[in-house]
Amino acid sequence: MSSYDGLKTIDILLVEDSKSDAHLTIETLSESRILNQLHWVKDGAEAIDFLYKQGQYHEAPRPDLIVLDLNLPKKNGREVLAQIKSDENLKTIPVVILTTSVAEQDILKSYRLQANCYLVKPVDLDRFIAVIKSIENFWLTAVKFPPSED
Ligand SMILES: [Mg+2]
Repeated sequence: MSSYDGLKTIDILLVEDSKSDAHLTIETLSESRILNQLHWVKDGAEAIDFLYKQGQYHEAPRPDLIVLDLNLPKKNGREVLAQIKSDENLKTIPVVILTTSVAEQDILKSYRLQANCYLVKPVDLDRFIAVIKSIENFWLTAVKFPPSED
């Protein structure tokens, strides 16, 4: 978490390969009254680089919240989630799964891997925005995050 004039900015890592879903998410959260900085990566390998500050992400902040798609190129969301939740330093970062999959197996597996919540992306635009607003209203507004450990 960075601070400026006493105001906290919430850093969100969005891991999403769909350009349109990412743009809609970025646009919706940019209208939030909660200060947030959204960092968008397009595949699982980039997400890992961001979290471990590798390569072009050497100056990346530790995100306060991760919004993770499941079906991703290079390294899928399940692998990214498993890696985050088995890492002593990263495991305290809440992970919101945001996916089109309604498969019970995906839901169960995600919670087994310690996802903090599982949200299904609605196909309908207004309902999609409503889901992003629900992330804002709960995760950015009601939730108390663990203190940063780095
Ligand atoms: Mg996807």
